[in-house]
Amino acid sequence: MPLSLALKKIMEEKSYKVSIIGSGPAGLTAAIYTARADLNPLLIEGNQPGGQLTITTEVENYPGFSKGIIGPQLMAEMREQAERFGTKFISGEVENVDFSSRPFSITVNEEVYKADSVIIASGASARLLGIESEKRLMGYGVSACATCDGFFYKGKEVLVAGGGDSAIEESTFLTKFASKVTVIHRRDKLRASKIMQEKAFKNEKIDFLWDSVIEEILGDKESGVSGVRIKNVKTNEVYEKKYDGVFMAIGHSPNTKVFKDKVEMDVKGYILTRNGTQTSVEGVFAAGDVVDKVYRQAITAAGTGCMAALDAEKFLED
Ligand code: NAP
Repeated sequence: MPLSLALKKIMEEKSYKVSIIGSGPAGLTAAIYTARADLNPLLIEGNQPGGQLTITTEVENYPGFSKGIIGPQLMAEMREQAERFGTKFISGEVENVDFSSRPFSITVNEEVYKADSVIIASGASARLLGIESEKRLMGYGVSACATCDGFFYKGKEVLVAGGGDSAIEESTFLTKFASKVTVIHRRDKLRASKIMQEKAFKNEKIDFLWDSVIEEILGDKESGVSGVRIKNVKTNEVYEKKYDGVFMAIGHSPNTKVFKDKVEMDVKGYILTRNGTQTSVEGVFAAGDVVDKVYRQAITAAGTGCMAALDAEKFLED
C-alpha cells in the first residue's frame, strides 16, 4: 500500500464521531447511548477505569438492584453493555486536548485521536491535605477510601480528617472494624448533615478532635503509620498521638486540569454547562461529577451522561 494511503487509513482509524473521556457512570452511559445511536464512540478510560464506584463496596441506592450491587460489579456491567453496542475502549490518561478547531484533537499515550464531538466525563478525585508524609505513606497506613481499606484496621485506632458528610460516613463505616475512630476537624462545628452528625455523636467508638489539623503523619513504609503530629489551631499547641491509620475525607476535586483554558470552569475547576450539557465550546459536552458539585450520585452522573449523548447526537445531526 502506498505510504499516503496507509497514512490516510491510520488517520481514519483514529477519527471518531464521538469521543468520551472518562469511564464512570456518566462516561459509560454516554457510551451506551451514543453506541446505540450508531456513532461508534471511542471511550478513553483514564487511570481509574470505572471511576469512584470501583473503590466502594455495596451500592444500595442504584435503581434496579433491589438487593444492592457491589460497585465494581455495577461498573463492569455498564462497561459490558457499552462494549456490546460497539464502543471502542482505550486506556490511558488524556495528556492534551485541542478544542480550538474541528475535528477536535485528544492526545492519549502520545497518540492523537480526532473527534467531531467530545463528551467530558472525567469525574472527581478525593482531595488531599498536600503534606509530604501523606503522599509518602499513601497506601502504607494513609488512605482516601475507608470502604476499600477499612478492613485492614480490625481492632486498631484510626484518625479521619474532615468535617463533612464523607468524613462522618467514613468514620461510621470504620467503626465496623476499628476499635476507635477519631475525627479531626479544623473547626468546632461539623459541616455534615444533622442526621449524620447525631448518629456519629451517639456512636461510642467515635471521638472528635475539634479545631485541630494534621501537621505530619508519622511512620515509614516498612511499618506503616505510627502516629500523627497534631496542631490545635486555637491554642497553637502541637503534640503527637499514636494512630494506626489515617483516612482523608476532606472532599473531592474535579479532574479537569487538562481542560484548563480549553472550556469554561468555575473557581473550583468544575466545568460550566448550559442548555443541558453544552460547554463553552460548541460540540464539547460535559457530564457527571466533573460538572456536579451538589448531587454527586451514580444515578445523577448516569443521567447527565445520557443527556450528553443525546446532545452530542443532536449536534452531529445538525
Ligand atoms: P465537603 O462537604 O466539602 O466537606 C469537606 C470537609 O473537609 C469540610 O468539613 C472541610 O472543612 C474539610 N476540609 C476541606 N479541606 C480541608 C483541609 N485542607 N484541611 C482540613 N480540613 C479540610 O465534602 P464531602 O464531605 O466529601 O461532601 C461532599 C458532598 O457530598 C456534600 O454535598 C455531601 O453532602 C455529599 N455527601 C453525602 C453523603 C450522604 O448523604 N450519604 C455522603 C458523602 C458525601 P470546613 O467545614 O471547615 O470547610
